[in-house]
Amino acid sequence: MSRAPDWISAEPHGIHLGPADCWIDPSKPVSHALVTHGHADHARGGHGETIATAETLAIMELRYDTREGARPLAYGETVPLGGGIEATFLPAGHVLGSAQILLERAGERVVVTGDYKRRPDPTCPPFEPVPCDILITEATFGLPVFTHPPIGEEIGKLLAALRDHPGPCVLVGAYALGKAQRVIAELRGAGHTEPIYIHGALEKMCRLYESFGVDLGELRLVSDHAKDEMRGAVVVCPPSALNDRWSRRLPEPVTAMASGWMRVRQRARQRNVELPLIISDHADWGELTRTIEEVDPAETWITHGREEALLRWCQLNQRRARALALVGYDDEDD
Ligand SMILES: [Zn+2]
Ligand SMILES: [Zn+2]
Repeated sequence: MSRAPDWISAEPHGIHLGPADCWIDPSKPVSHALVTHGHADHARGGHGETIATAETLAIMELRYDTREGARPLAYGETVPLGGGIEATFLPAGHVLGSAQILLERAGERVVVTGDYKRRPDPTCPPFEPVPCDILITEATFGLPVFTHPPIGEEIGKLLAALRDHPGPCVLVGAYALGKAQRVIAELRGAGHTEPIYIHGALEKMCRLYESFGVDLGELRLVSDHAKDEMRGAVVVCPPSALNDRWSRRLPEPVTAMASGWMRVRQRARQRNVELPLIISDHADWGELTRTIEEVDPAETWITHGREEALLRWCQLNQRRARALALVGYDDEDD
């Protein structure tokens, strides 16, 4: 492939497929949208038609209270979009329902990773590297300093804190979509069978995960239980509740937070986190670079994070690459 296909372009509000009049993860309402996953900066309401996995559509329905124009697509299923373009959704390993999107037209292949990771996650199928001409990759943790430790080590730290402090509880801040359920499922996998207490803001998303077959064990709502019942237990809440009045109802919590940003000490201090857990749903530097090597695209487009370092890495490795300037993405879903 000597030049980029003319049927796909990066506009400020998303990736645009001109001949199909279709957008990927647009940050403004459009008539035809393809949505990679349910995080708020990718999945916005108000589109005329939304093509996404059934899981992502259910998450969007939970958040926006509408199913209008919803068109479910299973992993591996291909749909014609118009203008000779076909789309296939493939697992991205990021959160429940998350997908990469393979776009094909007249033999040209483009893959949009959306957010992704390569580490195992009991709540969603693993990322599959897909050969293509253009790889459009995220770069949330696109700096060499970001190496995520094995999740088993971080869950081990959480269980050790529980053993060392039998009187209070361990309060874990985790994003409501994906991180909270992954931490709970990993605790179950590590043999933690006791009830886990959750903040009310996590309840519906946990139930949605369960409805798609993810086993989270016994969950109890903090609001239904007395302080003393929660001694020695794991309590999970959204990060915003960590330093909130709400946490006063808990027995002297040891404060933890599960996020890729916990690699940065200052970020842990900002949130008064005593037990930083480096648990991320995004690819770290090693995963980002390994994926580019494995997929081996003719050109890499980089978006959504720290583009410069990955761009430089591509140049140093004689790989064609460009940084996209898309607006409206944030790192709320780390
Ligand atoms: Zn995400
Ligand atoms: Zn994202």
